[in-house]
Amino acid sequence: MRLKSIEMQGFKSFADKIYLDFNPGITAIVGPNGSGKSNISDAIRWVMGEQSIKSLRGSKMEDVIFSGTEARKALGFAEVTLVLDNSDQYFSLDFPEITVTRRVYRSGEGEYYINKTLCRLKDIHELFMDTGLGRDGYSIIGQGKIDSILSTKSEDRRQIFEEAAGISKYKYRKIEAERK
Ligand code: ATP
Ligand code: MG
Repeated sequence: MRLKSIEMQGFKSFADKIYLDFNPGITAIVGPNGSGKSNISDAIRWVMGEQSIKSLRGSKMEDVIFSGTEARKALGFAEVTLVLDNSDQYFSLDFPEITVTRRVYRSGEGEYYINKTLCRLKDIHELFMDTGLGRDGYSIIGQGKIDSILSTKSEDRRQIFEEAAGISKYKYRKIEAERK
């Protein structure tokens, strides 16, 4: 499994539709302060279902939509698509490539898609569960995250290990089954 590319339009400072391709190996993103480097990692977290606007460095969900500049009008929606290589069947979906898309409008309405098919946030959550990716994953380590992992309560720290060990999914299914 590998992140192949990101496509975004109207997300934070990226007004125009842009494509970023990631080659195998390590990618470093460099640029002056304020040029949008962190906005790229925000976009990745957002499309994987992040609900906390604070962790996306905004104060309301609308803040992820391009808010305009002196020369350019604000946009009405933001959209991000991740393209993931699944030729090793890392995700339990029978497709060599998986795309995950999230769109949000200024009205607050939004939707998610897996391989261009409308789905629920729950489906996105389940897709990434136990992969270390996703909303509650540990694959994106933001500034200050290491400190919070070290100082967190032992029960919360246990969750990180459970995700890494691949047992979050079973706990989740047990809770789901008990609810029914
Ligand atoms: P640094 O090197 O300081 O960490 P960076 O490259 O990570 O900088 P970002 O934080 O990704 O920079 O980008 C910040 C820029 O994004 C700011 O110029 C800010 O005005 C712009 N920005 C953030 N949200 C929006 C939005 N909704 N609409 C337009 N521009 C936005
Ligand atoms: Mg930054």
